[in-house]
Amino acid sequence: QPLLVGLTGGIGSGKSTVAKIFEILGIPVYYADDRAKWLMANQPDLVESIKKEFGTESYLKDGSVNRNYLSKEVFSDPEKVKIINSLVHPAVGIDFQEWASSQNTPYVLKEAALIFETGNEKKLDHVINVSSPLKIRVMRILIRDPHRDEQQVNKIIDQQMPDETKNELADFVIKNVDNKLLIPQVLKVHETLTAKAI
Ligand code: ATP
Repeated sequence: QPLLVGLTGGIGSGKSTVAKIFEILGIPVYYADDRAKWLMANQPDLVESIKKEFGTESYLKDGSVNRNYLSKEVFSDPEKVKIINSLVHPAVGIDFQEWASSQNTPYVLKEAALIFETGNEKKLDHVINVSSPLKIRVMRILIRDPHRDEQQVNKIIDQQMPDETKNELADFVIKNVDNKLLIPQVLKVHETLTAKAI
């Protein structure tokens, strides 16, 4: 069983970019947010419990998730968000464990926007936080997602756990300011984790 390592960071911090560098080094990455969406559509027990809780309208005729309905009915109501998370998070947890135990590398990564927020660090051996200056994060998101404006991006950032708090909670902090400085930090964390796993 490989070591289980979380990889998190606020919006625009560059966690997906860092994940890709680890993948180049041969480390398998579990993209929790994408996988959660896949499980919501394809994991029979999860589909059933979502239908039971939020109605059969939660799915379209072709079996895909009715995103329109869920964003209106569920994602706009913090209480309902808690309920759907209480269904989805455990399913992702089980799926991640199964996936991880089928890998044979010294460690694997779980890339997720939320780790400390959900207490998921308790189920992980180590957590890496990707940290970047606020101004750079906002700029990156505005370039990557042209449909968003500065106000929206700042609102998302304000709703997330502050970067400083995550840096304190994390075992490793990777500072993503530019590419040149980024890669050596990833290599160093990779070496440390590989050594820990042996
Ligand atoms: P989200 O939480 O929105 O998924 P994220 O933390 O995964 O964001 P990325 O998608 O990795 O962040 O990065 C945001 C944008 O910034 C991307 O377009 C990415 O290519 C760019 N970017 C990230 N890091 C760097 C870097 N060091 N140099 C140049 N561009 C970068």
